[in-house]
Amino acid sequence: MLRRTKIVATLGPASDDPKRLREMINAGLDVARLNFSHGNEAELRTRAKLIRNTARECGRDIGIMGDLQGPKIRVRRFLDSSVILNDGDAFFLDSGLGEMEGNKAGVGVAYERLHEDVQQGDILLLNDGQMMLKVDRVDGSRVHTTVVQGGVLSDHKGINRQGGGLSAPALTDKDRSDIRIAADLQLDFLAVSFVRAADDVEEARKLLRAAGGHGLIVAKIERTEALECIDSIIDAADVIMVARGDLGVEMGYAELTGMQKQIIRRTRHHNKVVITATQMMESMINNPIPTRAEVSDVANAVMDGTDAVMLSAETAVGKYPVAVISAMSDVCKGAEKHSLARGRTSHRLDDQFQTVDEAIAMAVMYTANHLAVKAIIALTESGATTLWMSRIRSDIPIYAFTPHETTSRRVCLYRGVYPVAFRIEHTDPRQLTEDIFSTLLQYKLVEEGDLVIFTKGDLSGVSGSTNGMKILSVYKPG
Ligand code: PGA
Ligand code: MN
Repeated sequence: MLRRTKIVATLGPASDDPKRLREMINAGLDVARLNFSHGNEAELRTRAKLIRNTARECGRDIGIMGDLQGPKIRVRRFLDSSVILNDGDAFFLDSGLGEMEGNKAGVGVAYERLHEDVQQGDILLLNDGQMMLKVDRVDGSRVHTTVVQGGVLSDHKGINRQGGGLSAPALTDKDRSDIRIAADLQLDFLAVSFVRAADDVEEARKLLRAAGGHGLIVAKIERTEALECIDSIIDAADVIMVARGDLGVEMGYAELTGMQKQIIRRTRHHNKVVITATQMMESMINNPIPTRAEVSDVANAVMDGTDAVMLSAETAVGKYPVAVISAMSDVCKGAEKHSLARGRTSHRLDDQFQTVDEAIAMAVMYTANHLAVKAIIALTESGATTLWMSRIRSDIPIYAFTPHETTSRRVCLYRGVYPVAFRIEHTDPRQLTEDIFSTLLQYKLVEEGDLVIFTKGDLSGVSGSTNGMKILSVYKPG
């Protein structure tokens, strides 16, 4: 049985060994994430090259996602790399303090405007909410606080303000130059961190296109401001990421699960793609098996209808980067057997379709779900038809037959869609059909006698022209 839910895994020191990366691909990696928050340009370029080469060796299409750092506010460094803060201690944050000057009294912050954005009584959360500071007063660039929840604070840990409301724009100067790297590396996806509104997404897209990049734009939902205009962000983006790390810190974790379900539902309704991210298999950074709570978390995201589940530190720096992908893959497959993951939906039942392509895609899915069909084959330029199809819950595989590698790597993220390299050699319909049958049989995707549904556009080379469907019984071309 094919796994429908896709796996995004972050690359890092733990995956830099080519043999290890090959094992990760064979274990089920679909999209590799390069994190611009960690690693310098040379490391990122090396990783991008390694993943492309290894994917080719494995005969697989693997998408690459660049994830911009965004205006993540971080403490600078300490003289001794960390300090222990006890409850009740006084501690300051100061953007005027240098890189290595942190100590028990206070530390630098890499955000010039922190002192303008906070006021007395605010709660600042450090290290993904593990530690808590309460703001006492602001004096020039120095924010004086009292430690409410202590712990070990080490170099470069993140800072969030409870309730959100830090005013930094989503794209920093570093992000702008990283977008040029993403374009140069022809990355398939570009993730924008700390999106506030649709404008941020549009700006990132404009910059990427201007730099010659073709990647799809991923909007990371991790700020409370973004929740207030979520529909317009979904419309502006190609992909939404439920970035539960920062979002859970800003909005508080109690209502995070409900929010996840709502974002997934709304994103699918708008015909867009959604990734569920952060701490999905966190304990596997150090342990060879997941906790039952993690198993449930991944399974629930699958039942919610997410396109992909994501791994961060688990594969970037964890001890078990291969085992964690296998475990996640098994849990996805297990969850997909459940009726909640397969059940028929009333997706856009009450909506008018926008285009003929979408109408055909819906007709295909309705037919496939009500007839004993083994596979759906879409001849596609851009992958758009398969995106629409994959918004409908189904357990029938959707094969994106495309001559374009960029499309193959893009559909890697879509639930239930699998790329197949295919070049149209014949315009004669019977010969084209036979070429498709040969390809399906060659890769053992179906057997002789199986029913398949086939869609194609009129004009090869022009996207958005799917105008018909055929139901065919597969035979071996003689
Ligand atoms: P990050 O984003 O890992 O880049 O912080 C994901 C999240 O915040 O959940
Ligand atoms: Mn984040």
